[in-house]
Amino acid sequence: MGIYEDLGITPIINATGSVTRLGGAPMPPAVVEALKLGATEAVVLDQLQAAASRVIAELTGTEAGLVTAGAAAALTLGTAAILTRFDPARMDRLPHTRGMAHEFVVAREQRNGYDHAVRAAGVRLVEVGMNELVSGAGVRRAEIWEYEAAFRGRTAGVLFVQTADVRPALAEVVAAAHARGLPVLVDAAAELPPRANLKAIPATGADLVCFSGGKAIRGPQSTGILCGRRDLVAAAALQMLDLDDHPELWDPPGDLFKDLRLPGLPRQGLGRGLKASKEEIVALLAALRLFASGGYDAEVATYRPRLERIAAALAGCPVTCALRDAGDGESFPVLAIKVDQRALGQSAFDLCRRLRRGSPPIYLGHSELQAGVLLVHPLCLDDEKAALIADRLRAALHDKS
Ligand SMILES: *Cc1c(COP(=O)(O)O)cnc(C)c1O
Repeated sequence: MGIYEDLGITPIINATGSVTRLGGAPMPPAVVEALKLGATEAVVLDQLQAAASRVIAELTGTEAGLVTAGAAAALTLGTAAILTRFDPARMDRLPHTRGMAHEFVVAREQRNGYDHAVRAAGVRLVEVGMNELVSGAGVRRAEIWEYEAAFRGRTAGVLFVQTADVRPALAEVVAAAHARGLPVLVDAAAELPPRANLKAIPATGADLVCFSGGKAIRGPQSTGILCGRRDLVAAAALQMLDLDDHPELWDPPGDLFKDLRLPGLPRQGLGRGLKASKEEIVALLAALRLFASGGYDAEVATYRPRLERIAAALAGCPVTCALRDAGDGESFPVLAIKVDQRALGQSAFDLCRRLRRGSPPIYLGHSELQAGVLLVHPLCLDDEKAALIADRLRAALHDKS
């Protein structure tokens, strides 16, 4: 029996991609090996994070980087660093921020559930702008003057959620914020691939950028990256690391903590729950190196034919298949299956539910069910799983009971 069956848990077929609730992306063998090797030796964690910082800095074109317990953890730690800088008394007080500048300006249309990670550090979000394209009331979205009008004495920074079509562009928001001496924290958790974004997003001048380690990078699901300005990354590291040492003995490692002048060492603080373990750190670095060097490209090339075989197997069924493929050799193609709900006598929701309840359970992408569309994301599939999806879909489409 497998390690999950031992616990009475049935492994599923995940055709949804790297979502957290289904366990994230599969780790490649080299990453699993790094995790295994990393688990059996003892190392000084601040030295390891300083070494990780050098690797992340090189691959993201930033000054420094930190491995965190996910992009959400990176958002909380980055926020904490902006609020406290190197003041241990402030670190000690978080998430209580009375007396500190504690507002972050964010475009209203960028609000999302993950910004709780920013608020968790004690920040109040101040929303600006309107997306009148979405509300159907006009043609405009958040604008730079609206950010500028919201900046005031209590403003500590700007939260920016990066997406391909975001407006105004990150570089414009960075320029406006920097003109007022304000740092910009970017949630770019799922903006990989393309791997060019590893450098392109920080190159906008954004002060801190957060990436997920457990999505397309394919590191451990519980990892993330915070990268950017050295002083802010160091302030974040101080709030995550265990610094229960005598100040006279602590030896701040490497360039991450270069020229650090602290009145005292911070205690276990807001970041303690956001720590990464040594084996997670080395595994994330192995995955990041693979991702950044195009190590997944050969596998990505197998995705399209696999999805095409599923589409071909559905010929004659009351569905219309469309392959969505950016064709850049890096991005994930996705198979969209639009169900003719009237001819079928079942809704896309019904089909989705039926596949989840089968054996083994199959989880298809569910973000477009309202429009009658099922999605097949190839990241967690192989030939065998893809063939099973095709068989089970065909069966479900022919059986209306
Ligand atoms: C996935 C995601 C996160 C959270 O990332 P984790 O690494 O799972 O913590 C945050 N923001 C956005 C936009 C995401 O898509």
